[in-house]
Amino acid sequence: MQADPEVVVVGSCMTDLVSVSTRLPNIGETIHGHKFFIGFGGKGANQCIQAARLGAKVSMICKVGKDSFGNDYVENFIKNSVSTDFVGQTGDAATGVASIMVNNEGQNAIIIVAGANLLLDSEDLKKAAGSISQAKVMVCQLEITPAVSLEALKIAHTSGVKTIFNPAPAISDLDPQFYIYSDVFCCNESEAEILTGFLVRYPADAGKAGSMLIEKGCKLVIVTLGAEGCVVLSAEDTTPKHIPTRQVKAVDTTGAGDSFVGALAFYMARYPDLSINEMIKRSNSIASVSVLAAGTQASYPFKKELPQDLF
Ligand code: ADP
Repeated sequence: MQADPEVVVVGSCMTDLVSVSTRLPNIGETIHGHKFFIGFGGKGANQCIQAARLGAKVSMICKVGKDSFGNDYVENFIKNSVSTDFVGQTGDAATGVASIMVNNEGQNAIIIVAGANLLLDSEDLKKAAGSISQAKVMVCQLEITPAVSLEALKIAHTSGVKTIFNPAPAISDLDPQFYIYSDVFCCNESEAEILTGFLVRYPADAGKAGSMLIEKGCKLVIVTLGAEGCVVLSAEDTTPKHIPTRQVKAVDTTGAGDSFVGALAFYMARYPDLSINEMIKRSNSIASVSVLAAGTQASYPFKKELPQDLF
């Protein structure tokens, strides 16, 4: 058992089954692909792994199946120094999977079966509540049952633990309590758009959508904008601030948002005295490294690979 994690993530694990072919098959058609690989994904686990690779003591609260993908996922956490004290394995559902087909142009078609992720419940949170309340930062998303994420936010909030909520995948009728129980509400442009109904393309739009989220009760909103970096604003300082990221030649941007959220959790836990703008600047830098290589977790940098002035 790991003593007192700094960061606790309550969220999803998905096994990505990726097949690459020159084109996507039509309905009823079988075609040959030329590459297949299995990757570790799921927004919760991705964020958890990025925070751990930067050196945070991290604990994951999640559910996988009692199957080979579930066993492999537990191994993956252990290899990345993540505490698995609250990684449950159930015989009642399979480990979450994403079956992904990709063509030569990088276009894809994806089926996600959340499986065991949806069986993470209140009882599991009760068992982990002591660990959540000792953490510095708790992070959750929407790839598990939303009511469970909300309960986790409330447990953390009641114990004075800082919360980061990443409303992904976004739902248009999000329970308004999510806005109130998030210390940091971090979404990307399409999620901001679904939540506000306001089209987000440029930093100025992100500022407007962010203002609408502040009006809904958020304390601090970050809207990430891919290569444009992100925009931040808060209830105290309602003027949106654009924080650009490094200009890099992106190879694969899958999971960049999760790298950003994981990095932010690390900074909030380890360097709470940094300004939020500085934390965002550094999280941008880390996420920009993650787009330089293929894969999701496979592209997340370790502390030793990064410039030491980020620490
Ligand atoms: P998501 O993966 O949720 O769509 P974004 O695409 O907004 O999230 O990316 C999250 C963060 O990753 C950005 O705020 C930025 O810091 C970094 N990032 C993403 N794409 C690039 C890119 N092409 N060049 C540099 N940094 C990037």
